[in-house]
Amino acid sequence: MPLRLVKNAFDSRPGPRFFTQPERLKDSYDVVIIGGGGHGLACAYYLAKEHGITNVAVLEQGYIGGGNTGRNTTIVRSNYLTPEGVKFYDKSVQLFQDLANDFDLNIFYSQRGHFTLAHTDSALRTMRWRAEVNKHYGIESEVVDREDIAGACPELDLDCGGHLPVLGALYHAPGAVVRHDAVAWGYGRGADQRGVEIHQKTRVTGINVSGGRVTGVETDRGSIKTGTVISMVAGSTPRVTNMVGLTTPIVIHPLQACVTEPMKPWLDTIIVSASLHVYVSQSSRGELVMGASLDPAELHSTRSTLDFTEGLMDYLLDLFPFLGQARVMRQWAGMADMTPDFAPIMGTTPIEGFYLDAGWGTWGFKATPVSGMTMASTVANGRNHDLIEPFNLSRFERFALVGERGAASVGH
Ligand SMILES: Cc1cc2nc3c(=O)[nH]c(=O)nc-3n(C[C@H](O)[C@H](O)[C@H](O)COP(=O)(O)OP(=O)(O)OC[C@H]3O[C@@H](n4cnc5c(N)ncnc54)[C@H](O)[C@@H]3O)c2cc1C
Repeated sequence: MPLRLVKNAFDSRPGPRFFTQPERLKDSYDVVIIGGGGHGLACAYYLAKEHGITNVAVLEQGYIGGGNTGRNTTIVRSNYLTPEGVKFYDKSVQLFQDLANDFDLNIFYSQRGHFTLAHTDSALRTMRWRAEVNKHYGIESEVVDREDIAGACPELDLDCGGHLPVLGALYHAPGAVVRHDAVAWGYGRGADQRGVEIHQKTRVTGINVSGGRVTGVETDRGSIKTGTVISMVAGSTPRVTNMVGLTTPIVIHPLQACVTEPMKPWLDTIIVSASLHVYVSQSSRGELVMGASLDPAELHSTRSTLDFTEGLMDYLLDLFPFLGQARVMRQWAGMADMTPDFAPIMGTTPIEGFYLDAGWGTWGFKATPVSGMTMASTVANGRNHDLIEPFNLSRFERFALVGERGAASVGH
């Protein structure tokens, strides 16, 4: 249990605020991180904690965690399809499990078990394949039948109103949900305590490159000299890579989600159906947290639509007809940075001193700890960490894609 919880129970005064607010930017930093989402803050934290690199600025155009980090549906799992993906996300799950102690902060990590429903023979085949790969790498993952699903979630209509009956599911016991804001705050506070500067309301407007290497950044608060820039801006990646003339295959699609009014706890697990384009879990406040697949058209926007809610509810009621009277309280969208193979783009780039952490699409929250840890190691040691080497941008030139589509589309 985080010690801070115990301390707070005996302390009548409020604790200190989470972050110091540095008044001005320095002229130069050893490392500039663009983006104060979970990934940027985690990278700053591990640079300071693991490598003693503290002359670091995290520049965030809005407020920390205000991008996709604060908009996601908080699912954490490691039952991916490729060996590269499974090893990478498994490391993240391991780091997540120790994070509350590491931060001395309750991040509400709640292991629920994760069911990916199969409604067709071909879906079942992919799940068997995933289960075999997962087991090979020591991940708890198995194909289960209708009775097992009914036992874990008796409220689910396995016949789906006769539309697309459930045949079985991939069950992943370590599947979890965790409070996304707390993850960002924990990493931010830990970085701040170790001397990293977090500058909110500071937008990077340009990156200076001379002779093929980074020399500094331009911001709406002035210029900074630095030899190392890490771009961790998810849905804004094309804008930042344009600043250095780098081309990536990333395209941006809105991804929407919503929550219902709170209800008494009834859903213990996470239920995902790719065929019905819906996934749902119940938060500790009792709300059903739900989402679907990407919006179909490329768009750099966080507007949300009635189309999305209507479509989602249509499918949700196939699974849970008794929810007909439940009210949706809020809906929102984020900008998902999608790659052709549904795997991230990480590490070094052809521009010396410019590092990229992007292509997180619909699945990057669960990668927050491992991405921060491996990117920090990559920058500190000047070479890609082994876990992220397969995800380097150069894979698209080498036709060495890491095909994760079968495990990352609706499943998050
Ligand atoms: C609706 C939805 C549901 C999702 N559900 C899940 C899920 O259940 N599980 C999962 O694993 N993943 C999920 N994801 C994906 C996940 O949220 C993201 O992949 C992840 O949060 C990316 O984190 P990040 O730190 O890289 O980016 P962000 O949190 O987006 O942070 C990037 C930051 O960069 C800042 N920025 C951009 N441009 C500039 C600039 N020029 N200067 C300064 N700052 C800049 C932005 O303001 C932003 O705060 C979901 C995403 C959405 C939208």
